[in-house]
Amino acid sequence: MPYDIIRLKHHFQCNSSIFLEAYTTSYTGIESGLPIVELKTKSQHDLHCIFVSENGCMVYPDRPSSCRYYPLGRFVTKSRETGKITESYTMIQEAHCKGHDSLCKQSINQWRKEQELEAFDKYNDLMIHLISAKNRAGLNTLSENQRYLIYICCYDIDTFREFSKTQKLMDQAYPHTIEGDIQCFLNAMKWLEERVIK
Ligand code: SF4
Repeated sequence: MPYDIIRLKHHFQCNSSIFLEAYTTSYTGIESGLPIVELKTKSQHDLHCIFVSENGCMVYPDRPSSCRYYPLGRFVTKSRETGKITESYTMIQEAHCKGHDSLCKQSINQWRKEQELEAFDKYNDLMIHLISAKNRAGLNTLSENQRYLIYICCYDIDTFREFSKTQKLMDQAYPHTIEGDIQCFLNAMKWLEERVIK
């Protein structure tokens, strides 16, 4: 998801294109029709996450939101009639997760707070507005150009930064910090909804 990538690229202190090339693959989502990015596995035969090591997660302070939520799965829907966002959760019970043996009980909100998920949800949930905009526009399939623009706006924020310079899309240059990347991403999402998904 977009904010996951912003955090991970800053973890490696690299450009978003370099991060995406090194650690992710992408495909078109079957239901959403949007470009989807996922982390690579160790190899074709070893399906462990590329960031897992003998000492655990190599990117732990900046791990993605789905890792933070686990063993919860989170689903977000937006009502077509009212625009209201609804969240729902499911508990994923897998034998290797020893946390289920613990007697400790926590509410979902306590878990979200402990895992610092507020910013992740705030920015990643903007993707749902994009899906709504696509549905509103009656776009069943996206053109290659639309898919490319969505890809750079949502995931490859440094390429969007350069693109927006040549196209004069943003009224100012944002610094190469997490906060600067978030501002670029917010501008990119607005531009997509107003100019690309229509
Ligand atoms: S916490 Fe997430 S990013 Fe880290 S090793 Fe596990 S699956 Fe990979």
